[in-house]
Amino acid sequence: MNVNLQSPSNIVSSKLQAIRGMNDLLPEQSRLWQYFEEQVRRLMARYGYLEIRTPMLEQTALFKRSIGEVTDIVEKEMYTFEDRNGDSLTLRPEGTASVVRAAIENGLLHNQTQRLWYAGPMFRHERPQKGRYRQFHQIGVETFGLTGPDIDAEVILMSARLWQQLGLYEHVQLELNSLGSAEARAAYRRQLVEYFEAHSDQLDEDARRRLHSNPMRILDTKNPDMQALVEGAPKLIDHLDTESQTHFDQLRALLDTIGIEYVINPRLVRGLDYYDRTVFEWTTTALGSQGTVCAGGRYDGLVEQLGGRATPAVGFAMGVERLILLLETLALIPERAHDTLDAYIMALGEDSARHALALGEQLRSRLPELRVQVHCGGGSFKSQIRRADRSGARYALILGEEEQRSGMIGIKDLRNEVDQQMLDFETLITTLSPSAPRV
Ligand code: ATP
Ligand code: MG
Repeated sequence: MNVNLQSPSNIVSSKLQAIRGMNDLLPEQSRLWQYFEEQVRRLMARYGYLEIRTPMLEQTALFKRSIGEVTDIVEKEMYTFEDRNGDSLTLRPEGTASVVRAAIENGLLHNQTQRLWYAGPMFRHERPQKGRYRQFHQIGVETFGLTGPDIDAEVILMSARLWQQLGLYEHVQLELNSLGSAEARAAYRRQLVEYFEAHSDQLDEDARRRLHSNPMRILDTKNPDMQALVEGAPKLIDHLDTESQTHFDQLRALLDTIGIEYVINPRLVRGLDYYDRTVFEWTTTALGSQGTVCAGGRYDGLVEQLGGRATPAVGFAMGVERLILLLETLALIPERAHDTLDAYIMALGEDSARHALALGEQLRSRLPELRVQVHCGGGSFKSQIRRADRSGARYALILGEEEQRSGMIGIKDLRNEVDQQMLDFETLITTLSPSAPRV
């Protein structure tokens, strides 16, 4: 006998694991995701937004130029590498930059307005924890070509309606701020630097580094030791340019009329450089420190900054993991999102596999919406009924020798205590059809 002592299975025995902070989505969870995604698709259709899909990899320069060199994302969170041609590529850390790039490149912005949405994975090298991952998912909207506060209000209303669709509206809070124009920010920046310089002993390392490169980012700090200092800083909202002030007042009036509640948060600056005027976040207290579930704002300068013709824009992005976590925490996932099967066909006795598969096909042809699974692999009545029960199906359909002889089908309600019945095919169709009263 020829024994190979160095078979590959002896050499390669250590288990391979997923990358930290990058999660598998198992069937149990993916059902919840599908429920959430369906709600989002419905929302987008209700407002006439169209989907755009862009690649997950982009040139590194795209993110550096849009998000900004002195931001958490670009300084420490991007997955950047050289490809085989020596080009520097980055796994997208967010969606807006890619959508703007695609819109410019494909001529979507010439004399037209656009209302777009996207969904997909994003990548940031952060410390993984509850609600914070290295591959996570965002769904976002981006609108182009509209200047007024009406479109700012529209994207906020859309997000509010999604919370309503999901039963979340009472559990989230809208925070609103204005970052003014670039000129107003420049003037404010000088004041802010003066203030922080006067208290430089209280700045942490990050803040000291950003004092001159990007002082507004200091306001975004998560360091609890700096909260008091940041609280006392001058507020940009008190130094807005007239146009931004008017824009902000009008937006507030629109939200007030429609009855959307918000709080003004003067420290809301967002972690990305491209925002101006309106910024907003939806937050919750139910998820601990990872409390922001959706964030957005206006970015009128970005299209030009990335090489397009100056085009006003506003959008938002929501964190899918955090929203699903929130829905689970608050037990807001409807029962039907869990349930996957209507009927499970059991196959007993001789020649049963053929009959069962055929019955499955006949049912699917007659009832296209019916979710039906056929038992495979034989086994006793007891083991098959156990499978049927575990499958989550409402009904077990039983094809035994007697049924095959008589041309009838046994049916057992797995959720209610009723006796097993024998039905002919047409009565079975009526019983299983979606409009049938459930026995
Ligand atoms: P945070 O302050 O929590 O780090 P952020 O300001 O970096 O958030 P954005 O870039 O505005 O987040 O992204 C929008 C949304 O995407 C966030 O509000 C959040 O819900 C979600 N999100 C951001 N980073 C992560 C992550 N690493 N894991 C899971 N969700 C995330
Ligand atoms: Mg972040």
